[in-house]
Amino acid sequence: MNATITLPDPNTMYQAIVDRDAEMEGLFVMAVKTTGIFCRPGCKAKTPKRENVEFFATADQALAAGYRPCKRCRPMELSGSVPAWLTQLVDALEADSSRRWTNADLEAMGLSPIRVRRWFQQHYRMTFHAYLRTRRIGLAVDMLQTGKDVTSTALDSGYESLSGFRDSLRKWTGQSPTSIKDGEPILVQRILTPLGPMLAAGSDAGLCLLEFADRKMLPKQFERVSKLFAQPILPGTHPVLSEAADQIEQYFQGTRTEFTLPLRLDGTSFQQQVWKLLEGIPFGQTSSYGELAERLGKPTASRAVGRTNGDNRLAIVVPCHRVVRSDGHLCGYAGGLWRKKWLLEHERKLNHNQ
Ligand SMILES: [Zn+2]
Repeated sequence: MNATITLPDPNTMYQAIVDRDAEMEGLFVMAVKTTGIFCRPGCKAKTPKRENVEFFATADQALAAGYRPCKRCRPMELSGSVPAWLTQLVDALEADSSRRWTNADLEAMGLSPIRVRRWFQQHYRMTFHAYLRTRRIGLAVDMLQTGKDVTSTALDSGYESLSGFRDSLRKWTGQSPTSIKDGEPILVQRILTPLGPMLAAGSDAGLCLLEFADRKMLPKQFERVSKLFAQPILPGTHPVLSEAADQIEQYFQGTRTEFTLPLRLDGTSFQQQVWKLLEGIPFGQTSSYGELAERLGKPTASRAVGRTNGDNRLAIVVPCHRVVRSDGHLCGYAGGLWRKKWLLEHERKLNHNQ
């Protein structure tokens, strides 16, 4: 359900943290769920427990996921320390990342906005304002995931209003205002399930995203969805989301085995074919990539089928969890293998009782 990032395997990465192996610098950053902080592999701070660690390929991904850079190893700084002329600004950013900065603010600190911009571009591979925006969006998504209400989300992350939140999401997702259909946003709502909260996104046109909320890749997902449908995303309620919440609840209660929700399965024609096939795998049964490829009449396309399975944006409703390896092995699941196991077991038990 998320794009695959090439990372060393998790055990190797964790060992590098234990060993404070600076050789792994630049290959990944480590984020600690319990503290909300991310570090370089070689950080000298206390080694976190394995189960609390999450890995990202780049610092800006960790940042977008709502983590703060560690003050000790300063993982945002690619080469050495912050130059003396910039220390005051960097300290101010660390102290209050929700603050809005204007050129006048920078000038008041005796800094040249052009010079600041160039430095951020070179060292963080993004503009100064993109850095601040990403940081704020990270905070906002984090709060949405943890269930704070919409208004406090907007306010706590430095937005005066929901329209500010929407505008920033819009900028952050790289949409020019003209390419966004005005007046029809995609709305996002939380749905509580026994496997943890999910976020559902949809509009009049149907449900377009359903994902477990603890997935730190969610900001990326929002970005992809907003681009794909050329619509802004903002927190809110919509009949299609309430209906999704009801049907998901019934699914978990064991009273529903099929969904009747309007779905937006936009994608390439290959993707659409695969997702349709996934929808057709009955409750309580499994299939394999090879089998699906055969059914498509493209027996050699099982890898592409696997990738498309992973690109599914609608967890549970488009049951990508029902695809296992041909030897019965579970293989990956973007929402976490433990969830896939749980879902398959839940469906198997109900099927047996019928
Ligand atoms: Zn650190």
